[in-house]
Amino acid sequence: PYALLAYCRPGFEPECAEEIADHTQGPGKFERGDGWVMFTPNENHGAQLRELLPKQFIFSRQTIQVHSRIALGTKDRLTPIVDALKVINGIYSDVWLEHPDSNEGKSLSSFTRKFGDYVAKALVQNNWLQPEQSRQRLHLFFPKQGEVMICTRPVRATDWLNGIPRLRMPCDAPSRSTLKMLEAILVLVDEPEKKFREGMTAVDLGAAPGGWTYQLVSRGLKVFAIDNGPMKGSMDGHHQVKHVRDDGFKFRPKNPVDWLVCDMVEQPIRIAELMAKWLASGNARRAIFNLKLPMKKRHLEVEKCFDLIDQKLKKADISYKISAKQLFHDREEITCYITTVKD
Ligand code: SAM
Repeated sequence: PYALLAYCRPGFEPECAEEIADHTQGPGKFERGDGWVMFTPNENHGAQLRELLPKQFIFSRQTIQVHSRIALGTKDRLTPIVDALKVINGIYSDVWLEHPDSNEGKSLSSFTRKFGDYVAKALVQNNWLQPEQSRQRLHLFFPKQGEVMICTRPVRATDWLNGIPRLRMPCDAPSRSTLKMLEAILVLVDEPEKKFREGMTAVDLGAAPGGWTYQLVSRGLKVFAIDNGPMKGSMDGHHQVKHVRDDGFKFRPKNPVDWLVCDMVEQPIRIAELMAKWLASGNARRAIFNLKLPMKKRHLEVEKCFDLIDQKLKKADISYKISAKQLFHDREEITCYITTVKD
């Protein structure tokens, strides 16, 4: 039977599995590795699993469909893979060789890079690689040495190898967490160039030293940076930035802003409540914020936060869309995006 495989941050396999279980009907078996989770339904729910592939899960970095799982020797690793592909007999737009984000997985990266050339050659020889004809990508996932899972997924422009975006740190950004906001913009916001435009306004709660503010400023926004701590480097005294030393839970702008972003380290439910208040009152139209999740029942905590937001926005009669993801640059936290603008 078909199975579903999800890559995640090592340590977050339980959350990843719970989330998949929420979306699959019918019983099945979960297997957890270090940095991945596989769900095999008891009966063949192939069609249902395929529907889940484009879905963006919070704790999964990439969700793919498993066709077969084979053991590999140390000598000829190509032949068993080619034999398995003959059985599937599909055509693919591309092939990616991947591994989990675990220590063992990372030790396979030079192997997967080199071996990828041989696999691609074999695919070409068998006419299995046809970028113009196919929207399916072939993923060969090596959970550990000596084993491979043969998988596919529909191609999406936002996919990254191993589910991990490679982003370059801007040299004049004041903190590495700028990459978190950059990843959030790329992954969560569709058509970001339309949603971040010159002259728009933003409030950044817990802004110091200014990594998130940097991303907003570089897209032409004017930013109220709220923090009792100092802004640093290029964000200290920048003409598009107004640094306000105030409590992020108390500050409100004189006029509504286009964007609210928030990276304060606080209980997730307090942050959720604050975001809901801003959006419900029309003080901001869109928000990107982090929910820090150091506690045990992280999946449950996220649901509580989303329920609270839903209650408050429904009460205010505001329709909205929410999406969330544990980004590669997120550690014990997730990043959420809410828009109240119909687009
Ligand atoms: N996003 C920032 C960046 O990219 O550089 C990093 C933010 S850091 C994780 C959290 C910040 O929130 C700290 O600078 C802290 O001073 C601020 N903070 C925490 N609680 C706050 C509050 N109640 N009001 C204002 N700022 C607060």
